[in-house]
Amino acid sequence: MTMLLPKFELHQPTTVGDAVALAKQLGDDVDYISGGTDLLPNYKCGLNARKHVISLQHIDELKFIGAGAGDGKGVRPQTAKGSDPISIGAGVTLTELEHNTDVPAGVREAAAHIASPLLRESGTLGGNLMLDNRCHFFNQSYFWRNSLGYCLKADGDRCHVVPRINVDGKSVLNDKVCVATHSSDLAPMLIALGAEASFHGPDGKRTIKLNDFYYGDGIERFERKPGEILVKVTLPEWALNVRSGWKKLAPRQSIDFSVVGVGIALDLDGDKVSKLRVGLGAVDTTPVLFDYAKEDVRKDPNHYLLVDPTKDMPEVIGQPLTDELIETIATHVQTQAQPKLNVPMAPDYRKKMCGVLTRRLLKELRENNG
Ligand SMILES: Cc1cc2nc3c(=O)[nH]c(=O)nc-3n(C[C@H](O)[C@H](O)[C@H](O)COP(=O)(O)OP(=O)(O)OC[C@H]3O[C@@H](n4cnc5c(N)ncnc54)[C@H](O)[C@@H]3O)c2cc1C
Ligand code: SF4
Repeated sequence: MTMLLPKFELHQPTTVGDAVALAKQLGDDVDYISGGTDLLPNYKCGLNARKHVISLQHIDELKFIGAGAGDGKGVRPQTAKGSDPISIGAGVTLTELEHNTDVPAGVREAAAHIASPLLRESGTLGGNLMLDNRCHFFNQSYFWRNSLGYCLKADGDRCHVVPRINVDGKSVLNDKVCVATHSSDLAPMLIALGAEASFHGPDGKRTIKLNDFYYGDGIERFERKPGEILVKVTLPEWALNVRSGWKKLAPRQSIDFSVVGVGIALDLDGDKVSKLRVGLGAVDTTPVLFDYAKEDVRKDPNHYLLVDPTKDMPEVIGQPLTDELIETIATHVQTQAQPKLNVPMAPDYRKKMCGVLTRRLLKELRENNG
């Protein structure tokens, strides 16, 4: 049994352009690394390690929090205006996010509950949004996985969580569907706040809704084009003016990954709901957005066994946020959630906690304009 880091060649460019050019030159056998708090533990377990690793740590362009679209010139944290969008560079650490009062409260809370203080010093926004999906049968040593015959996500040809699937009315061995759980805490919160993600790759630059980026497959995980770097995330102006908050369920308050995460963006006009977006994490292969205005629905979802957040969605916008309405919303989120048996805690309990955390957070946000 070995938990040693496999050998790889480390490259340390100082600009996004150089990093992208390097990735293009090196081809398929390459990974980017930021803080390394997810990639390196996976490498130690022998999970899909590459021969070349490109560090993004020395790229100042990725380290800024600022108003406007972000000029990408390495601006250190600066004050955002309440009426402008705010951009956050992918290289910003979780500690910086946790303590920056320019970002919405929900983002600060989500960042503050990730891993541990030491890991938050190294871990970045970019690494968190590109985090690998997790599963009991995947996040194990090579020796452990070898004894079970591996699985689809690394080295194997079957899934131990969903061993069989239905194809054309016949039950067949599952050799294509991975339901590993999406476990990033910032992704559901940022999706609730309407974030867009900007990428720079060998084929140019693009910006898409973060909600459209994630892909319903535990292996591929997202719609990233080869060699693309996540450069920044931009929050719309409204995200700075709504109430937002985050709650997570994990076996321990520190260190452990979420087994349910709920991020909410709420706006009230008097006592009536004018905006409600609930981001649900750690219960499916992607974060799930419940936009009760029914406007933000993921395009081209390509789902495997995914939650349909629009199903049986109650009428919420324009209604007073009473205890009864909160109960209706919490029940809706709980009913649609489909946790799988591949991370700690039983799916039934996690499903129930989706409703409990939604209810608690909505009540808190109603009372506190935070
Ligand atoms: C004990 C422990 C507990 C943890 N608990 C939590 C938790 O509670 N919640 C949580 O969300 N996470 C948790 N994590 C995971 C991790 O620490 C954080 O998600 C962290 O933010 C990852 O950032 P990083 O910079 O270290 O990522 P890295 O390890 O550097 O990278 C992660 C992935 O992102 C890719 N990547 C990184 N930056 C970019 C970029 N700019 N563009 C393109 N690809 C990029 C890498 O190639 C890699 O695939 C935990 C980790 C550990 C070890
Ligand atoms: S869900 Fe994915 S990671 Fe888990 S056993 Fe199945 S294929 Fe492997």
